[in-house]
Amino acid sequence: MSGLGIRIAPPDTPQPLATLKPLEDAQRWDSPFEDDGITPGISVFMNRAAYIRVTVHACSDSVEVGGVLVGQWCTDEETDEQFVIVKHALPARHTRQGSVYLTFTQDSLVDLHDQIEKRFEGERIVGWYHTHPRMGIFLSHYDTWLHNNFFPEPWQVALVVEPYSSLGGFFIRQPDGSLNPNRYFGFYEVDGANGSSIARWQNLLRIEYPNHPKEVE
Ligand SMILES: [Zn+2]
Repeated sequence: MSGLGIRIAPPDTPQPLATLKPLEDAQRWDSPFEDDGITPGISVFMNRAAYIRVTVHACSDSVEVGGVLVGQWCTDEETDEQFVIVKHALPARHTRQGSVYLTFTQDSLVDLHDQIEKRFEGERIVGWYHTHPRMGIFLSHYDTWLHNNFFPEPWQVALVVEPYSSLGGFFIRQPDGSLNPNRYFGFYEVDGANGSSIARWQNLLRIEYPNHPKEVE
């Protein structure tokens, strides 16, 4: 399927950034599906600026809105596990909006790539987000099509937010590339080293780490 899609990745072969997961500065939020027999191929770290941008955008309209998630694709130097760090969220400007769907256009994506090059050098589109006002957290057939066509990399993720009930979840491909449209995952909230949190998605469960810095004597 993805071979038929329009690839928006730059022509160079992307390589992950080798670094360590920013676990000391993060808090984990689990979804109800975390141990449901499916394994995400990567984990997602999201910083506060991106979380706030998505949340504010999500609450700005009663129809679906969305945009792209910008940051870094990384591989952990110690464990080789892959992860992405979502650093920025950029609302898509030129989307056609309706109550049941949102789409990206080539124009909107070209515009977003330009913005990223100018403002966030060295970063890339690590996924996209959109809202499901008064619906649940899932990927529709159309969402799945859009994800596979515009965000085909194994490490690109789809975030769905329901602003009225304050729900959210990340759709992440499994190591074999498959994507379950009804099983979302949680994320690591970055910038939470002192134990505080701004995440408010009611469907996710906050997990205490055994070796979180605040618990070290
Ligand atoms: Zn959708």
